[in-house]
Parts: sequence; C-alpha cells; structure tokens
Amino acid sequence: MLNSGRGCLYLCATPIGNLEDITLRSLRILREADYIAAEDTRHTLKLLNHYEISKPLISYHEHNRREKGPEIIALVQKGYQVALVSDAGMPGISDPGADLVQLAYEAKVAITVVPGPSAALSALVLSSFPTERFAFEGFLPRQKKQRQERINILRNEERTVIIYEAPHRLKSLLQDMYDILGNRRISIARELTKIHEEVLTMSLQEAVNHYCNQTPRGEFVVVLKGVQTSDQQKNFSQISIEDHIKEYLEAGMSKKEAVKQVAKDRNIPKSEVYPYSIGLDIL
Ligand code: SAM
Repeated sequence: MLNSGRGCLYLCATPIGNLEDITLRSLRILREADYIAAEDTRHTLKLLNHYEISKPLISYHEHNRREKGPEIIALVQKGYQVALVSDAGMPGISDPGADLVQLAYEAKVAITVVPGPSAALSALVLSSFPTERFAFEGFLPRQKKQRQERINILRNEERTVIIYEAPHRLKSLLQDMYDILGNRRISIARELTKIHEEVLTMSLQEAVNHYCNQTPRGEFVVVLKGVQTSDQQKNFSQISIEDHIKEYLEAGMSKKEAVKQVAKDRNIPKSEVYPYSIGLDIL
C-alpha cells in the first residue's frame, strides 16, 4: 500500500524502450498514486494506456520546473501521493527529476524510489569494459569549447566513463573525443531494449569513420574505456616490454602512441621500446 494519510513523492523508473521493462511495484505505484508528474505527458500516456492506467497528469519538464516543482511539493504536503516519471528510465538521471528531489528534501516531505532501468547502467554492462569502477558524465556541454575542456579532464580517467549524447551531436562528440583522447576503445550503445538495439565496440578512429558515411539515428550512450589503472602501472616491471605494448594496442592506441606511452611508463627512451613493437599487429 502507499503511505496512508501521509503524502509521498515516488521516483518511479519506467522503461527505456521496451514497455515490458517496468517493475510490478512501479505499476502498482502508478495505479495507486493520486497524481503522476511526467516530463512529456503524451509520451507517458503511451505507457499508461498500455497498462490501462488512467490518472491526472501533471506536466513537469525542464522549461516549467521552477513553477511546477513547488506545486507538486505542495500536493505532497497536502497528503497526496505523487509519482514522478521521466520520459525514460530513472527520474533524476540527466532529467529535471533531480531538481524536484532537491525541493522535496528542502520541504522535508516523504520521498522514496521505485528503482528500475537506466540507459547508463544498461550501456555499461553491455560495453565489455570494466564495471568495478565507473564515472557517469551524463550529457557533456553543448558548446564546443566547454565540451572539449570536459573531455580533456577525462584524459587520465582510469574508470570506465559513461556519456549520454543526442544523435545530432554524436559525430562531433566522437571527433572531439578522438582529437583529445587519441585512439581509445569505446562502446556505442544505440536504441537499447528496442527493435534496433545495437552495441558497437571499437576504437574512436573506427567510430569516427563509421559515422562518416551514415547519419546517427536513435538514442545513444557512449562508453569510454578507462586508461590503465595505477595498480597495473606498478606492475609494469613484471611484464615484458612486448606485452606492455600489446596492452596499449588492445586499448585502442596506435603503435606510435603505444611505444611513446610504454617509454613514459618505464621511464626509458622510445628507441629502447621501438624494436619490441616491430611485427606487433594493431588490433
Ligand atoms: N533518465 C534516463 C535514464 O535513466 O537513463 C536518461 C534521460 S536523458 C534525458 C536521455 C538520454 O538517455 C538519451 O539522450 C540517451 O543518451 C540515453 N537513453 C535513453 N534511452 C536510451 C536507449 N533506449 N538506448 C540508448 N540510450 C538511451
């Protein structure tokens, strides 16, 4: 049952594509709530109609959050049960839900989460990159200069990095990443849980070439493999120079970049490393 007699704000996760990806609890909360606050009411109506749920909807999005946020909190204070949903996935992750949570905390109203899918975690687990430690960057700034500055900060990031991007900005994101980070490994998750789901794992150079000939369509998450961890760096002395070069080639570097990096890691001249790279194939 919902909190009887006491209002509560429920952060309800909804599917990121496939309508079956909704939890039993999320459906129950949506059925029992007094109001559903939704980012795009037309979009949410498709989900509600599919599950034959009819509720008063409140539009709550980026452009009306300042005026609607306090109204929603006031409803909770009056004792109503309000479910917040976003267009897809977990409310509060790269959408205006985070502002409403802040308001709820300030107003000290009851708030809880009804967990479910999120594009970020779904893309991460499909990327084949390490999942023990990861960083979520959300959407990078739209302005080129600010975006490049943010990418530059990621140069030495050891954790796997998750980035959201709109299809019309994907090409320029990939180009900036390639220019700044070099030929690192990435995974591009497209249209997750939908008919045209696709996960491409490749080097940044391959990704730039891939989208040279085609227009990106659908929803995308870009996952960047982190750089070598410091633990591994400490172990460089325990691996051969050849294996050391191979690790960087596997991580997507060119042979030239790998030789340079190995020389730097081991604090030895490039001329000492280069002979070991002859005959090693770029993956
Ligand atoms: N709150 C959502 C979540 O939990 O994932 C994210 C909302 S954010 C406004 C929308 C972005 O999420 C899209 O631009 C895309 O980067 C990513 N996204 C959402 N659904 C996706 C899907 N089915 N496949 C790939 N990316 C998706």
